[in-house]
Amino acid sequence: MAYSSGGRLPFESASKLGHLNVIESEWVQSLLKDFETNDVDNADNYENDIWESFDPSSVQSLNHIWAADGSYVSVEENHKELAFVKTALMTVEQGKIAAIDKEYPHPLKLQEIMKDSALFHATVFPLRNLKSDKGNIYDTVRHVIYDSMRTDENGQYFETLKWLAYKKWDGQKNNSLSFECPHCSKVIETGIPYDQDTGICPHCHKEVLLTDMIGFHLDMNEENASDSVASHYMLIMEMLMLFTVIRLQWANKDTTLISDTLFIKDGPMTLNGQYSKLVPNIREFLNFAKNKERPIHIIGSEKSGSFFEYLSLSSRFVKPDPGIIKYAVLNHDYIRRVIQRAPDRGNPYGLRTNWGEKVFVYLDENTHMVLNMTTGGYDRSDAYPKSSDIIGLQRILATLPALVSRKYEGALYPIELVNGIASMSNYPSAKILQDFVRDAVH
Ligand SMILES: [Zn+2]
Repeated sequence: MAYSSGGRLPFESASKLGHLNVIESEWVQSLLKDFETNDVDNADNYENDIWESFDPSSVQSLNHIWAADGSYVSVEENHKELAFVKTALMTVEQGKIAAIDKEYPHPLKLQEIMKDSALFHATVFPLRNLKSDKGNIYDTVRHVIYDSMRTDENGQYFETLKWLAYKKWDGQKNNSLSFECPHCSKVIETGIPYDQDTGICPHCHKEVLLTDMIGFHLDMNEENASDSVASHYMLIMEMLMLFTVIRLQWANKDTTLISDTLFIKDGPMTLNGQYSKLVPNIREFLNFAKNKERPIHIIGSEKSGSFFEYLSLSSRFVKPDPGIIKYAVLNHDYIRRVIQRAPDRGNPYGLRTNWGEKVFVYLDENTHMVLNMTTGGYDRSDAYPKSSDIIGLQRILATLPALVSRKYEGALYPIELVNGIASMSNYPSAKILQDFVRDAVH
């Protein structure tokens, strides 16, 4: 909270500090005086010379939209604990969504948009004090993850995991990434052989599952699982659902379809800790597609956190320009100095964890958003990325004005819709992936 500047001495209002001898220091007194000054409205406090302008009138917007979102909840009763995870995927035509009144949508029009357009995935994990005839919590969660991904939608999500893990787009028949064995903890350097669902650990000779490669078992012991297993399962499934459509569109007879589509995920394009293992493969595919001149337009939408808070304050000093979209691609130096306020540790921002970069977008006085967009490659330099590094930046920007939520600050309407599905218990899953499977070129 900011204090208004009054005539009082700094140490009187900062009475909590009054007993500290350091308050005598002129340096500290000078600081406290400035701290008392309410200058949240001072534009000099924001480093705002980052904005670029874009005129969307001559750029074609993207016609098809897919959005993914998820939710999870842990439930505790009689000292037992379970976690439910739900994720949803929805498609909508840009033209239809543009025509909807985002503030007071007509129920029938909305119903027509939503009809047969969404599918969801749900599963449940034991976290604490639950027993199964089959095994302890550690092995139960491992197998629930494996079975959940493999059985839903006839294994399409699991196939996407294989596609990413084995980099199936490049035709090289790669092994999976290396990972820590869930039984003996030794690293399986060679990974799992190409296209296999399971493998054998070369050290302890026990069976390992392809889903073990993701690393959920590092968040568990024999009898307890952390609820970060549930939150990361949600993040991984949101990503796999979106990439299932990307994978199927990539194989589609109509080779232009994929680059006429906007893929939207809720939240940043970040996978932390052991879960970041898939990040290099995701980047590699996006780069591969870019080089094949079939760019993938994909964004993540952040509605909270330090980037969102900074933009909420600083965007008031951006000058609106009717019909012009303002945007700022944040380079790593700016993120470290201005947003994170961190020292230069030599480890560039997002190197291991992020498959997208941060972009501020300003549409008008009331509409600004924090988006993640992709570059495919990664460069360690402070000045990276520039706007020319962002895949499909112009067509993404040209599509945004029709998608703005009128209910939530900085939000996108397709996310608002898919969020409703992800939190609904019995929404019927449509068979929308089947058309793509049928249209694939094998
Ligand atoms: Zn082993």
